[in-house]
Amino acid sequence: MFIESFKVESPNVKYTENEIHSVYSYETTELVHEDRKGTYQWIVKPKTVKYEFKTDIHVPKLGVMLVGWGGNNGSTLTAGVIANREGISWATKDKVQQANYFGSLTQASSIRVGSFNGEEIYAPFKSLLPMVNPDDIVFGGWDISDMNLADAMARARVLDIDLQKQLRPYMESMLPLPGIYDPDFIAANQGARANNVIKGTKKEQVQQIIKDIREFKEQNKVDKVVVLWTANTERYSNVAVGLNDTVENLLGSVDKNEAEISPSTLYAIACVLENVPFINGSPQNTFVPGLIDLAIRRNCLIGGDDFKSGQTKIKSVLVDFLVGAGIKPTSIVSYNHLGNNDGMNLSAPQTFRSKEISKSNVVDDMVSSNGILYEPGEHPDHVVVIKYVPYVADSKRAMDEYTSEIFLGGKNTIVMHNTCEDSLLAAPIILDLVLLAELSTRIQLKSEAEGKFHSFHPVATILSYLSKAPLVPPGTPVVNALSKQRAMLENILRACVGLAPENNMILEYK
Ligand code: NAD
Repeated sequence: MFIESFKVESPNVKYTENEIHSVYSYETTELVHEDRKGTYQWIVKPKTVKYEFKTDIHVPKLGVMLVGWGGNNGSTLTAGVIANREGISWATKDKVQQANYFGSLTQASSIRVGSFNGEEIYAPFKSLLPMVNPDDIVFGGWDISDMNLADAMARARVLDIDLQKQLRPYMESMLPLPGIYDPDFIAANQGARANNVIKGTKKEQVQQIIKDIREFKEQNKVDKVVVLWTANTERYSNVAVGLNDTVENLLGSVDKNEAEISPSTLYAIACVLENVPFINGSPQNTFVPGLIDLAIRRNCLIGGDDFKSGQTKIKSVLVDFLVGAGIKPTSIVSYNHLGNNDGMNLSAPQTFRSKEISKSNVVDDMVSSNGILYEPGEHPDHVVVIKYVPYVADSKRAMDEYTSEIFLGGKNTIVMHNTCEDSLLAAPIILDLVLLAELSTRIQLKSEAEGKFHSFHPVATILSYLSKAPLVPPGTPVVNALSKQRAMLENILRACVGLAPENNMILEYK
């Protein structure tokens, strides 16, 4: 059975005019000590920690500013939200298609609420807690290309032409603000596009971004803004003592107009100084140590890196399944070819390297979880290749070969071929990122040992499900396995309304 919404009735949950308050028992396990003399090697103890959560239920009017607004992702997302808001339908060669939010975890997936008379009850994911309705988001942002969003949508060649025609009147007047352009950080082949750039020193550029955010907020009468980088992948910037390793050194380097401070880091600095959440959808190391410290110091949400949209998403499911089944992946080879502007930008070695790094660590946690299959330090061969093939445009091809060792020295090879418009995968993920980032700024928690409520750690691990290389606070484990990432997110939101984590035991019927 599918229900649209629900309210939890429990002595542990209170709904007030302003918030949902829940008292929650977090069941976990402690590793106590090694027990060399006994039969068992280690002693572990179950542990219960009491937590309280409170969620502000006032959903703000949300503005989303995209860096790279006129790109394939930016224009596709803007178009998609307008199509949904206006209830647009269009003719394809197959049928009359209605706008939808397929591919969005918050808008198009469901959660199991419980069992009733032998039937499983499901509800929309978004019914867990009050969230912004994507139809109500006001979009804006920056692009180094001055093309209006209607032309940008046409340039992207992603959407059906009948849909584009209907959207054009809504998008023609949408103009990206000038962006921070530094040809040293993206491929030289992007130069021809850069006709809309902020002049001045790095300090002046940061100040301009702050001014842009303030004006956007004012003009559109939005309560909150989230900024998300969906601009071109940059090369890695150097991380060096004195340059960007501490807050003071990073801000000092901006003042000194240091060449090695990247545009994405400058946007992020502006956001953190403005207390505006900043999410990085590309693979580069925008979040240099000084910036992470600045976000922690100012308690401003940052999240990333790199949208987990296609090949990596499948990898983080498949390898989790294989290792979880006691099968040993020994070689993972991933080819991609794509023909959009992102592909052209990635055809330069420095920007490709950023992508290669972000795609490469994705199986680490799964491999290290199984000491029966892998010796310490052992790792499958893992190679990633990306080629630019203009003809296929946004329709990216991903080909993967997984070879594993199975029973008694046997080998198993799985080959996969995936074809899909890249931006149709990324746009709903961007939506989830901004909606969940906004929601998580309305949640406060405290454990029984803590006197005061506080927000989540500013480095938003709650967004890991949507990130190829999840950014985590120093000393926090990185989880890549998709099912664990989803469970983490869902179970935290369940805790906020006093529901137990989904444990799939279904003891009622045993
Ligand atoms: P795109 O090239 O179509 O769009 C990027 C836009 O950013 C362009 O319009 C460009 O003019 C603009 N831009 C570049 N530098 C800028 C700057 N400093 N300031 C403002 N604007 C700037 O690319 P896309 O297909 O939309 O992808 C965007 C990013 O998302 C890429 O880095 C890509 O690697 C990343 N990504 C995409 C996917 C996916 O599935 N589509 C998945 C993971 C990551």
